[in-house]
Amino acid sequence: MKLHEFQSKRIFAQYGIPIPDGDVATTPQEARAIAERLGGPVVVKSQVLVGGRGKAGGIKLAKDAAEAEARAADILALDIKGLPVRRVLIDQAADIRHEIYLGIVIDRVAERPVMIASAEGGVEIEEVARTNPNAIKKLHIDPFIGMRAYHTRWLAREIGLDEALMRSFDHIARGLYEAFVGCDASLAEINPLVVTGAGTLLAVDGKMVLDDNGLFRHPDLAEKRDVDEETPTERAAREADLSYVQLDGEIGCMVNGAGLAMATMDITKHFGGSPANFLDIGGGAKADRVATALRLILADPNVKAVLFNIFGGITRCDEVAKGILAALEEVQPNLPMVARLVGTNEAEGRQILDASPFDMITATTLAEAAQKAVAAARGELEA
Ligand code: GDP
Ligand code: MN
Repeated sequence: MKLHEFQSKRIFAQYGIPIPDGDVATTPQEARAIAERLGGPVVVKSQVLVGGRGKAGGIKLAKDAAEAEARAADILALDIKGLPVRRVLIDQAADIRHEIYLGIVIDRVAERPVMIASAEGGVEIEEVARTNPNAIKKLHIDPFIGMRAYHTRWLAREIGLDEALMRSFDHIARGLYEAFVGCDASLAEINPLVVTGAGTLLAVDGKMVLDDNGLFRHPDLAEKRDVDEETPTERAAREADLSYVQLDGEIGCMVNGAGLAMATMDITKHFGGSPANFLDIGGGAKADRVATALRLILADPNVKAVLFNIFGGITRCDEVAKGILAALEEVQPNLPMVARLVGTNEAEGRQILDASPFDMITATTLAEAAQKAVAAARGELEA
């Protein structure tokens, strides 16, 4: 789950990281009132869950409250990378002398968090990685030791930071690590971390991505989810507790179990097809969840055939069959469908499908099911 800039920065502030004074507005009038309270020049910043807002015209400086109102009106009318701007953050403008990058992600190969810093902040870090990889410095963090002053000093020297800023940098880097761990984040990033004209450090931008699997431990953070920023498909999948990832192939896959879903996608590829999605309906899936899953698959216009691969353990094949029929009655698709149901109550499941008015191609082995789905998607196989 991604957090907005203002949400991320408020969390950073709780961990002692200096951020500009500011507040969020949904109308130009509110923006003006905030700017009046702040006094002096402000920056008006679109709050949308994409990067590169600056380049897209979503970040504008304003010298006073009247100008802040006008810029807020402009920005609130924008669509940035397809997302309408619903809110703007009004921050006291920073006097920027230099922009640094500072972020933390998990390095899966090293099996630990890695702090990344660069003297070339402000631009996207992927861009720096491409054009000047030597400007990126990395520090792996042993979770049992955590971040110590000698780590942050090393990193600060690597990026050529002024000695006078060492203490402040140490404080910020450790705060960022604490925030990352404390929130179960998968990313925490300050870009840019600014050296101001007055010679202080200030987190001008903030970004956090939280690990959805850790959210149950943070009800206060889970509440911050901005449902306006999810696609309808993502929202439906999350609400039904389905793991769904849309891909660009033509065979819709409905499978119970993540490993089986991966295997199903692999074998579909092996036989010359291409999966339209990853979808794990989970263990013990009941009819209504199966119906939601099928609706998600059928909402994708690229799908030419659907492959059901259900291994009945806790999940009962008859329950899944009922779910498939419930969804078919509602959606009435005219696509070929291949079903392989094995395990608990498979005979009952097959009976339910056979007795239905819908044509269903059946298969016993996974290889057979995948081959039939590939052929059906090509229009070479009828039910
Ligand atoms: P992003 O484009 O979505 O990453 O948004 P940022 O918040 O990082 O802003 C983009 C750029 O706008 C920054 O790298 C700065 O160069 C500039 N910027 C942002 N806030 C201020 C500010 O308060 N003062 C000044 N002078 N520039 C700012
Ligand atoms: Mn930024």
